[in-house]
Amino acid sequence: MSIPGSVFDDLVGQEHAIEILRNALSASSKDDASQEMTHAWLITGPPGSGRSSAALAFAQALICPKKGCGTCPDCNAAKTSGHADVEIIRTEGLSIKVEEIRELLTRVAWAPSMGGWRVVVMEDADRLTESAANALLKAIEEPGTRTVWLLCAPTLHDVLPTIRSRCRHLQLHTPSLEAVTKVLVMRENIVPELADFAARVSQSHIGRAKYLATTESAQRNRKLVMQLPLQLGSLAAAFQAAQILVDLVTTEANESSDERDKKEIEKLQEAYGKGATGRGMATGGAKAVKELEKEQKSRSARMVRDSLDGALLDMTTFYRDVMMVQSSTTESMINTDMRDEIERYAASHPDHSIILKINALMEARANLGRNAAPLVISEALMCQLARK
Ligand SMILES: [Zn+2]
Repeated sequence: MSIPGSVFDDLVGQEHAIEILRNALSASSKDDASQEMTHAWLITGPPGSGRSSAALAFAQALICPKKGCGTCPDCNAAKTSGHADVEIIRTEGLSIKVEEIRELLTRVAWAPSMGGWRVVVMEDADRLTESAANALLKAIEEPGTRTVWLLCAPTLHDVLPTIRSRCRHLQLHTPSLEAVTKVLVMRENIVPELADFAARVSQSHIGRAKYLATTESAQRNRKLVMQLPLQLGSLAAAFQAAQILVDLVTTEANESSDERDKKEIEKLQEAYGKGATGRGMATGGAKAVKELEKEQKSRSARMVRDSLDGALLDMTTFYRDVMMVQSSTTESMINTDMRDEIERYAASHPDHSIILKINALMEARANLGRNAAPLVISEALMCQLARK
């Protein structure tokens, strides 16, 4: 059982990992050399298991006077990246480059300002380039005694062996459907039916489940995506479906980034004195804005990719359910709201073709990871899905 009012409460279905972190925490506060705090951790787990939430919770627990109450100024500041001793590295681009790591290392070379721990959370350690990983290696090998590194990655194989051999490994698991549903009902006040639906179709990915349950446009978009497999009667229809899919994911990604992009630019311009003196920005302002715009562009591209990947995963659940119907095992059907359509589809398509379609979806996701253009991926995919 977790203690009420603790940052660890936010981690759903990760009791084992929480226990390990709590033990490390209590060891860290004792002045016992044999119980020395581990300075480098590698937190792995499938998407949605809460890797970055676990890392953030641990960071908060390390710097909070009450070991992670979740409400004190230290805990709050850590959460909003405003704590002097907590550095959260979120990657907006496709990789973390060696220059970024070098900059980071100079920033964290100082002793913690509050006298406790300095914590670096790296959410996407799998995106480190090889030279960036090597630069980081030195820091992990000779840790400043008060710096703790929390690296997150999907699996152990996503980081270089040299890095992973120097980290203590913490494995997270996919939480159960029941656990995710319960959290949505208890913490987000979602009605049980919607919570159950969101948990099921998100396949226990807590972040996606919460987003879906609380965002009407996401529910609408998902409905449209799930109709696509039913609209592939001809080659022309397949190309049309591909365009619909790309338009949908692009709009979805832009909706969430436009506002943020604008605010970021305004803030930066302000920092360079725009509007304050009636004159233009201070020297370097225009260049900084240009750099920020470049970063934002790369982030938008990544968001479109993430959004498309989510849609492809959703479509995969359709074919998965068709396969279940064909093999008469429907207890764990995901899209129960489409039962009729799925049954009709299952009856009119040979089962070997369904496996090919699921393979095509997997291939499309892999190509997305290789940076192929979303529309090209989508068109190739829909043509394959349109085959009988
Ligand atoms: Zn606190």
